[in-house]
Amino acid sequence: MVCNDASKAEFAKAQMLLQALDAEYGSELGYERAALEDIAMRETIICKQCNFENNIETSEQRMLLCKKCKKEIWLTADTFYHKARLFRPRIVIPHIFEHGIVISINQAAELLDVSNHTAKLVYAQAGIVVTKRIAENAVDVPSQFCIPVVCRRSTQTPAREHPAAEELAVQQQLKEDRAASEPHFESRNLNEQQRQLLAALSDEPASFEYLSEKTGLNSAELSAQLMHLELLDLVQSCPGNKFKLAVSLSLHGAVDNPAQVARAESLAKTFSYFIKDYFQGVSRKYLQIYASLHWISQDRKCFPKYSLRKLFASHSHISYDEILAYVTPPAVRMVTPFNTS
Ligand SMILES: [Zn+2]
Repeated sequence: MVCNDASKAEFAKAQMLLQALDAEYGSELGYERAALEDIAMRETIICKQCNFENNIETSEQRMLLCKKCKKEIWLTADTFYHKARLFRPRIVIPHIFEHGIVISINQAAELLDVSNHTAKLVYAQAGIVVTKRIAENAVDVPSQFCIPVVCRRSTQTPAREHPAAEELAVQQQLKEDRAASEPHFESRNLNEQQRQLLAALSDEPASFEYLSEKTGLNSAELSAQLMHLELLDLVQSCPGNKFKLAVSLSLHGAVDNPAQVARAESLAKTFSYFIKDYFQGVSRKYLQIYASLHWISQDRKCFPKYSLRKLFASHSHISYDEILAYVTPPAVRMVTPFNTS
């Protein structure tokens, strides 16, 4: 259990919020009703047996009988409340997040008197749903910047190695993928002129004149070679008789501009404080999920009260298998700046 002051204070806040929520909802039945009300906002549900669209007339029951084929339709099927035995943790945890309160999975399990497994499931589902909502204002932070907080193992961690070894494996894979996507200049039987030309090209469109000067090729030779490389998908023509390396050739996902690197580093640093304060550490595999939880905890404008509950109720079920299969990509998407007002 985490026991620094920040996390103690957050836990106390969560306890107070829980008291208020328990007073409001009364009992597990009250929480269930609240969840069913969220689901009933869909208004209709399609019967999987006969495809008949049934109106959801009441939010009192978890199951209704199809008007047409009379088979059972479970309102919670394939939702955030799929096969949930307890509704309380699934209502309370989103509310905790919406209040900007951060508690660890262990603390949530203790607070709500559920297993760690249940708390972990809800956290992961929340993180995955919210990750899908991360939009354009996010910055791609290379996952290697987050290595200082990677100290938990996952199913992806190589045996008998430190959890950070997972990152090394990802970097190695990335390198291999890039090497594989450099379309084997050697094997493509490129001639000397074509090689020279590729060396002169970059991600930035370059003019025909510039390329001619750089390679010493005359117009006719240059035109012919450019066309040849374009047909091989190695070169892309741009407006204004300009040319650049085809997208497949540029280093995909690499952050190379110094201002971007500085920004990504500063985001990674803020994120590591968040992890150290409240979670001690994470596994590499789930970095993105925690980055998304970080976003929720900070961004009150994007996640006002009830927003997460509504979001989760309208999202389809995320299974445990999906969570196990989740792996953070080489770039962790982090949102900035936060709307803290
Ligand atoms: Zn039916």
